[in-house]
Parts: sequence; C-alpha cells; structure tokens
Amino acid sequence: MAVRITDICINCDACLDECPTESIVDNDENPTGEDIYYVNPETCTECVGDNDSPACADACPTEGCIVWSNPSTDGAVDGQPVVED
Ligand code: SF4
Ligand code: SF4
Repeated sequence: MAVRITDICINCDACLDECPTESIVDNDENPTGEDIYYVNPETCTECVGDNDSPACADACPTEGCIVWSNPSTDGAVDGQPVVED
C-alpha cells in the first residue's frame, strides 16, 4: 500500500512534515532523480492507523498531484487521485 507523488508536484513542501511515517523526501533526495517530492512505497502506510485519510494528500495544494499506487486500500485504482473534487 502506498501513495505516489506525480510530476505536477510544485515542490512546495506542504506534505513533508505531515507524514506520520517519514516516508516523504524532497526533490533533492528523490531516488528517481526527478525534480519532485517522492514517497517511499516501502514505508508509506496510506496513513492507516494514524489519520482518516492520507495526510500528505490532504495538505497538498496541487489538485490531483498525489495518487494511489497499487496495491492500495479500498480497491482504489492505480493513478487515481487521493483527493478528488
Ligand atoms: S499517505 Fe500518509 S504515510 Fe503515506 S506518504 Fe502520505 S502522509 Fe505519509
Ligand atoms: S504538497 Fe503536493 S505539491 Fe507540495 S511538495 Fe508535496 S506533493 Fe508536491
């Protein structure tokens, strides 16, 4: 289970300190080399047990930036935005 940050990330830093599992790193530490923030899929829990919904996505000002990454909870589709209007 995990969420993923997509390439529309504006590197605003709003999500990083919200993560209860310290799974988010900034663009300088992104292991993929992309100039966006990154979620470690090995440690992201989708906030299960900590928050009612993924705190990073709730904090993110960029609509649709943070998406579910399979296998995820609740049968969410890979790539589906965590927060949808
Ligand atoms: S869903 Fe929760 S655990 Fe996963 S990266 Fe976002 S804030 Fe961290
Ligand atoms: S809050 Fe959203 S736009 Fe800002 S750094 Fe995190 S993923 Fe990127």
